[in-house]
Amino acid sequence: MSHDAPQAPAGPTKLVIRNIGLMLSGDMDKPILDADTIVAENGKITAIGRAKDIDMEGATTLVDANGTTVTPGLIDSHVHPVAGEWTPRQNQIGWIDSFLHGGVTTMISAGEVHMPGRPKDIVGVKAMAIFAQRAFDNLRPGGVKVHAGAPVIEQGMTEEDFKEMATAGVRWLGEVGLGSVKDGPTARKMVAWARKYGMNSTIHTGGPSIPGSGLIDADVVLEADTDIVGHINGGHTALPDGQIRCICEGCKRGLELVHNGNERAALYTLRLAREMKELNRVILGTDAPAGSGVQPLGILRMVSLL
Ligand SMILES: [Zn+2]
Repeated sequence: MSHDAPQAPAGPTKLVIRNIGLMLSGDMDKPILDADTIVAENGKITAIGRAKDIDMEGATTLVDANGTTVTPGLIDSHVHPVAGEWTPRQNQIGWIDSFLHGGVTTMISAGEVHMPGRPKDIVGVKAMAIFAQRAFDNLRPGGVKVHAGAPVIEQGMTEEDFKEMATAGVRWLGEVGLGSVKDGPTARKMVAWARKYGMNSTIHTGGPSIPGSGLIDADVVLEADTDIVGHINGGHTALPDGQIRCICEGCKRGLELVHNGNERAALYTLRLAREMKELNRVILGTDAPAGSGVQPLGILRMVSLL
């Protein structure tokens, strides 16, 4: 069944993928590799290059790529998982496995905010974050690594709460602004506590989305100072261009473009990043599952759009 973790094969393996048309490296400075063949032995890549230079002897699996493109596994930097392969947002099963078919091998939770009856009290917020971290640490749906356990900050949280969660293994903050903290000063204080204990953070940039969320404008984004400016192109309603420019120029944090945001605002942000020679700040996500659905090929669509 799709929710079972893949079993490792018994005995040594040697996978050879040949006849690759285009090999992408994932490195912005050298995006295309001079290679048409990959060898992986016992699950680890041991050679990348031209077929004539590579030892293909003893292959246990030989794959002909038929001239297609091979890339490193794609990362979806903005998902909202809840429980394994099930999402209550669309009452759908198998959504993570579907994303794997769109090239995504790693996902980062921006908060398990679609949990039915999501607790808002502080003990409940912490418990749910630790539960989600544990559950997805124990399970890779279809082989996809899901970094989950991303609490949404609420009024009244203390430094001790962040220390406790970090000690328990929580590494991410969900979108600032989807809970009761929507003001810059409180967000800034809590984001700094999270950072102090090794947790990464993101923020809901733009107009409101799910019930309980609100407008987060450029002033709040810049003051909160999260590691990632979550969906700077809106989730789904984008800020005006002037505010997007203000954020891009006003900080050095990651600029996240999402599939479920505004496409024009995504292109505008990309243009600004290119003008500033800071394309390395741009990361991609889908913001799925969402009211607008589940998009298994969302990251590939973003790549082709941009
Ligand atoms: Zn959002």
